Amino acid sequence: MSATATLVTKSINHNLNFPIYLDHNATTPCDKCVVEAMLPYFTNDFGNAASMHGLHGWNAHKAVTQARETIASALGTTPENFIFTSGATESNNLAIRGIFQACAHEGKHIITSSIEHPATLATLRDLEQHGAVVSYIDPLPDGSFDMAKLAQLINEETILITVMYANNELGTINPIAEIAELAQEKDIYFMTDATQALGKVDIDLATCPIDILTCSAHKIYGPKGIGGLYLRKQHNKKNIEIKPQITGGSSEQGLRGGTLNVPGIVGFAKAVELAQQELRDETLQQLEALRNKLEAGLLELTNTQVNGMNVPRLPHVCNMSFRHTDGKKLLNLLKKDISVSTGSACSSSNLAPSHVLTALGLSDELAQATIRFSLGRQTTAAEIDYTLQKVKEVAVMTSQI
Ligand code: PMP
Repeated sequence: MSATATLVTKSINHNLNFPIYLDHNATTPCDKCVVEAMLPYFTNDFGNAASMHGLHGWNAHKAVTQARETIASALGTTPENFIFTSGATESNNLAIRGIFQACAHEGKHIITSSIEHPATLATLRDLEQHGAVVSYIDPLPDGSFDMAKLAQLINEETILITVMYANNELGTINPIAEIAELAQEKDIYFMTDATQALGKVDIDLATCPIDILTCSAHKIYGPKGIGGLYLRKQHNKKNIEIKPQITGGSSEQGLRGGTLNVPGIVGFAKAVELAQQELRDETLQQLEALRNKLEAGLLELTNTQVNGMNVPRLPHVCNMSFRHTDGKKLLNLLKKDISVSTGSACSSSNLAPSHVLTALGLSDELAQATIRFSLGRQTTAAEIDYTLQKVKEVAVMTSQI
């Protein structure tokens, strides 16, 4: 490392809190307003929302009703189509397993993309043990969704198409309206995992024929352990009826037993409200400008590339590979100062290269020398300046050329 490079990072690290957090696709801090909205439901209004005979339960029930209305309205739907779960993993399980069971008499073919989150892929792999026939569509080399392949794969037995709204590693946004319309035309259920898109993309279920959508609060500055499932009551002329995967109670229209997490639900709704505001103000544009600055700066290095760069992308995500670089060393040297992910956050403790990057055609070595930066509401220009200099320094140190 050159002496000048050290001086650059030293000179811009005043007033920064370390480590700098650039891993918002893994999770986000709870917004203070979210915490404030939740607090009364831990103490004074602690009632069970299913026990409405007394005032305690009634107040909890009212809060849940209000929260459901807020979230449904933000998504362009009505409350009876939205149920609460413990998060997107549970929602994906409930929807995919539920549809597979409900449609057993119609067919066993499911189409998905090979770069879905493990919450989808592992569920489908498990269903394959029970007779499901799953087609996995690889992304095109630029990271975009292969519509032509989807059209080819649809057959008489196809019961479900499930394609994520935005990819958690690349930030690429899939052509959801186009896929939904094709599925509707072919009379096939269409599901999208919108965990990373919620709050970043304007989702309108009133105009886009999505049948099932899953989401989670902790990616949008809400609490962990709460998420949701949108289930359109009617698909073409059929009713959509799925079976619960967690039995033991009649809550959430009988689709999910268990006492409702009232503080979590209230916090989720507050987080959605704040995210809706951000879709209208300049926050996302400002984040995009910071992301672009980081990206452009790092692309000045000759051995860097941005994966998914030419596809519509979430404004706060940059997935960058460092060619001819010792990936492990690179990440180790950054760890103390900057929190980022390599591959997917959910699998970064396991050293297998990311299935998303290998599906794009990256070698195992290059996939392991890849960093996902995901900026957030509190990311500052000073943090990005520091990150840019620090990553440049470390990339030069770990270069194998
Ligand atoms: N789907 C996607 C696209 C995700 O990014 C995540 C979280 N990493 C999940 C599903 C799982 O969400 P949860 O943590 O709420 O179970």
